[in-house]
Amino acid sequence: MKAVDKHKVIKGRPIAAGIVLGNSRVVLPGETQVVEIAVPDSALSGEINALELAVKETVNELNDLRDSAIKKMGGPATKIFEAQLMIAQDTEFLGQVKKDIRSEKLNAAFVYNEHIKKATAPLKSSADTYIRQMALDIEAVAGRIISHLSGKTRKDPVIPPNTVLIGKSFTPGEVLSYRRQKVIGFVVAEGGPDSHMGLIARALYLPVVIAKDLKLSKLVSGQQIILDAIDGKIIFAPTAEEISDYQQRRKRMGPALITRIKHLKEIPPKTRDGVEIPVGGNMTLPGPAEEIMAEKNIPIGLYRSEFLYLAKGTFPDEETQFEHYEQVARKFAGSSVVIRTFDLGYDKMSADDAWPHEENPALGWRGIRPMLEMKSLFKDQIRAILRASSRKNLKILLPMISDISEFDQAKRLIAQVKFELKKKKVQYDENIPIGIMVEVPSTVLIADSLFPKVDFLSIGTNDLTQYILAADRKNSKVAGLYNSFHPAVLQMIKMTVDKAKNCGKPVAVCGEMAGDILALPFFIGLKIDLLSMSPNRIVDLCRTVKKIDSSLVQPLVHSILASSSTSSVIKRLESFKNAIGSRRQKESHFE
Ligand code: PEP
Ligand code: MG
Repeated sequence: MKAVDKHKVIKGRPIAAGIVLGNSRVVLPGETQVVEIAVPDSALSGEINALELAVKETVNELNDLRDSAIKKMGGPATKIFEAQLMIAQDTEFLGQVKKDIRSEKLNAAFVYNEHIKKATAPLKSSADTYIRQMALDIEAVAGRIISHLSGKTRKDPVIPPNTVLIGKSFTPGEVLSYRRQKVIGFVVAEGGPDSHMGLIARALYLPVVIAKDLKLSKLVSGQQIILDAIDGKIIFAPTAEEISDYQQRRKRMGPALITRIKHLKEIPPKTRDGVEIPVGGNMTLPGPAEEIMAEKNIPIGLYRSEFLYLAKGTFPDEETQFEHYEQVARKFAGSSVVIRTFDLGYDKMSADDAWPHEENPALGWRGIRPMLEMKSLFKDQIRAILRASSRKNLKILLPMISDISEFDQAKRLIAQVKFELKKKKVQYDENIPIGIMVEVPSTVLIADSLFPKVDFLSIGTNDLTQYILAADRKNSKVAGLYNSFHPAVLQMIKMTVDKAKNCGKPVAVCGEMAGDILALPFFIGLKIDLLSMSPNRIVDLCRTVKKIDSSLVQPLVHSILASSSTSSVIKRLESFKNAIGSRRQKESHFE
């Protein structure tokens, strides 16, 4: 039956940006389908047997999932299923359910579901996201047990392409499987920006809006819908005007910024006085930006390989990684690609139940740290990179190095993989450069012993700033303190460059600051070997380079390094920026 097209606008909070036009599909929560049935005394044992069987089948399913997770994803993701196995087999809980089936003479599915609702209600209202996540895990297990009790198998429903799914909440696994079915966005009633769903949706570029007052039973499937996860609006049965507005906005947001790279004449750009400033792009998941960069021979200065994990919620196996790295190495045959090994943890995992809960994840198990413990996953990744390296255009970058022993261990593991490949006569680049991210102040303070060991350095100003200033980069309460233009950050960058140049090692910048036009004269003055930035910043940066006279930046660099406050640094840089291209450029830094 065709849905009644009724114009309606619901407001919500976007947690993964984007705007799409599609058709609605409402997914009602399973719990509404669990009906209460009176059971005669003679059939009560049958209900209890059915419950035991359903638990057994669920345990088998979860064991299978855990085993395949061990193979494909390694330690952390298996913890999801271990936790779910414990929930499924909680004997005290099951004993209480069985007791109530007998005393209330009701069907197992209903009694079980009532117990689940009682157990999860206080968890759901907790202020702690970890506890709220626990409620979702319990419900995921209950969903399996109840579907076994009702004799249903858990097959993914068939979803037509171009669907916007509307439901109470979706698990990361559901988001991934719906994405494979070409779902284009989600509207949910529960969750938050740090929910697993938000994390996965952002990595997959799927827009999501949370609308807390969503009345699912009042919504219909099959209606045309605009999901605006920028302004936080869901428009059902949009008017012609709203559709045309949507089309305009799509056009404006499209890849226009990136396609402008095509029109750049000179890459790398040269300053007014002819000094080349090498620029590169940062890559997350493959997309149109990489195609254009490859065409223009712009290197990838930072390939955030962890997005291969985040996009799937599982560690990609060696073969899958090899295909990705091989493809990118082939595409960038005319330039180079710096592949950063998995940089997981903190904001790139901490909201996921597959990762251990940490009180202080920014100072916890992140970057190189977990990978040195999950050695076989690290080696799988290194093997995949090495196998794709025969064109000699790949480099390995190790994230979050804070101690020399971490670099030594990683290097040993890389040497082991090389040795194994050699024995098998597999081709690879024997001299593949191995570099480190400079993100932790300790790295710079031990530069004299550490830097001579590495092949190159890449300054991650995003993390370096948060660790120098003790200001969490994602905490809005300290956003006023988190500033990469703080004189201490600039001093640390200068120190890194000096130490690197002293031992003849190339040094890049790949944090957000690399693409900031305000910082450009500083980096030109420091003679950074590569500025690698988000691709949509490349065009403006290249155009600005051409207007700067590199001979004029040294006094500016001296003056900002002598500044005692962030505001005076910014004032000097702004005054220089405003004067770029004019004769005032020369005097601007004295203002
Ligand atoms: C950085 O910290 O500056 C960096 C480039 O790494 P990420 O932003 O991925 O942590
Ligand atoms: Mg970082």
